[in-house]
Amino acid sequence: MTKHIPNTIEERLYVLRTRWERYVAKGQFNQFIEFAVAVNSLAEYFNRLHLSGLVRLCEGLEIAVLAKLGDQASHPMAQQDILALQRQLDTLLSSVEHSRAPSMEQRTTEPRRDTTTAEADWIKPRTIWLVYAPEKREIANAISSQLRFFGFDIHELSWGAEPVSEDAVLAVLFIPASENTRPEELARIEAIRAGSPSSQLIYLGAQLAIDPIVTLMRAGVDVTIPDEGQCANVLNCILDLVKVNEQEKYRVLIVEDSRVAVALIQRTLAQHGMDTRAISDPGNLLEVLENYHPDLILMDMYMPRFNGVEATRVLRQMSAYSAVPIVYLSGESDVGMQVEALRLGGDQFIIKPFNPVLLAAIIKTKIERFRETQRSSRLDGLTGLLNHSAAKSRLNTMISQLPEQNMLTVAMIDIDHFKAVNDTYGHPVGDQVIRGLAWLLKGRLRSVDLIGRYGGEEFLIALPGISPEQATSVIDRIRGDFCTLPHSHSSGALYSSFSAGVAAFPMVETAAALTEAADGALLQAKRLGRNRVEQAAYS
Ligand code: GH3
Ligand code: MG
Ligand code: MG
Ligand code: MG
Repeated sequence: MTKHIPNTIEERLYVLRTRWERYVAKGQFNQFIEFAVAVNSLAEYFNRLHLSGLVRLCEGLEIAVLAKLGDQASHPMAQQDILALQRQLDTLLSSVEHSRAPSMEQRTTEPRRDTTTAEADWIKPRTIWLVYAPEKREIANAISSQLRFFGFDIHELSWGAEPVSEDAVLAVLFIPASENTRPEELARIEAIRAGSPSSQLIYLGAQLAIDPIVTLMRAGVDVTIPDEGQCANVLNCILDLVKVNEQEKYRVLIVEDSRVAVALIQRTLAQHGMDTRAISDPGNLLEVLENYHPDLILMDMYMPRFNGVEATRVLRQMSAYSAVPIVYLSGESDVGMQVEALRLGGDQFIIKPFNPVLLAAIIKTKIERFRETQRSSRLDGLTGLLNHSAAKSRLNTMISQLPEQNMLTVAMIDIDHFKAVNDTYGHPVGDQVIRGLAWLLKGRLRSVDLIGRYGGEEFLIALPGISPEQATSVIDRIRGDFCTLPHSHSSGALYSSFSAGVAAFPMVETAAALTEAADGALLQAKRLGRNRVEQAAYS
């Protein structure tokens, strides 16, 4: 299997420029579409890097391009339109050049919490090579013991050593002597890349500047992690790799009364790996939304009973659906009418007959951004767990949907003497301890369980269908394991512990009372000496 070497920014800019030049030279509709797709993909790329300024510029160009898309007959377009687009493109390109100073925002890899890994898969041993310079022995050892804790086989190598080839290598972690990558180090990375095309290459301690990172990526590195203080990111990257479930498929709901159009759209989206559901009558919209939870709605403009704009206006009044991207599909080429439709709550207009490449590209981008904003508003940035308010509302929902006679146990977990960890090793190491616990909980609990980061070093857990006794034993086992989890820091590893309090429904009846009772039990656990689990007393 050959691995696709990551598309560098250079490559993307090159594609963008040449596609534009080709269109300017020949003026063909298809070339313009190719250019539109390149703009779209660049916007997607910047969005992933969280370079919001460049995303905005790109989107501006994208909108201008889409407005000029028209059909076969509208190309080549007028000279003044070409000049206007050229100006916009030049502005974008020069801003990109400008942003490539060392201050450019650096992407870090955050864990995703859209799927949960079962314990059995979590422990599956995998091989990881750790290539490190002798002066980085301590940090390498700390990372290595942390990874071993999570069940990986670690093979430690020096930069000069020839790797012994064996089974597939999940990942190769490089720890260089200093942040200035040496030529022989680059050569070693290239050789390993060539020999293990499907492994994930992770580089710890990269300079926070785009040029050296591009150099590393050209040599074959997949992920760069800026400095050693962020060695917890290594764990995140690697645990992401072994997740059983791939990222959930994109779900698109098609609201369209023409069977032919539906078939065409479904085929196109299936080719791009998306899941679709179609309804022909917008009257069923709310029901379907409730069950299907689409990431995007593709809305036909003209349908029996009510039109797409009316259906959209209804959805936009409901808080649950106020943010779902809605893309109109229509034969309508009247610009005034399109603007009105967008004003009333749509996100984009695609004219039928649509170009399949463009349709898929637009849908993918919209969904990516939608999922990103959903994620960041509900999930905690450090751990990828539900944040305080999302956890609270999820607990409410869980209780209201609990089958009759069913129990639900809530636990409040708080790391012991955490202030001392921060004071002794610094805040970043403290963060890593928090993440370590988050990962352990994710690995050990079921996908139906709620895990939230309730406060700084406090976690809220809810286990439906589980008695307080069972919950106590599950959490106590996790507690025992957490005590032995090494947290790497720049001069070794530290160990931490937590205390927990448990309370159960229906003995306690509301979400608020449950968390309060669990908190009370947690306090008791702290009083009794910490590193223990206590159950709430019910009177
Ligand atoms: P106890 O065993 O009684 O819980 O002692 P403790 O030191 O853990 O308790 P306390 O609540 O006094 O300290 C919690 C500390 O957690 C205080 C705060 O600075 C730190 N903290 C909160 N959020 C974060 C975070 O996101 N990262 C890091 N590194 N520290 C955090
Ligand atoms: Mg129709
Ligand atoms: Mg606390
Ligand atoms: Mg604490």
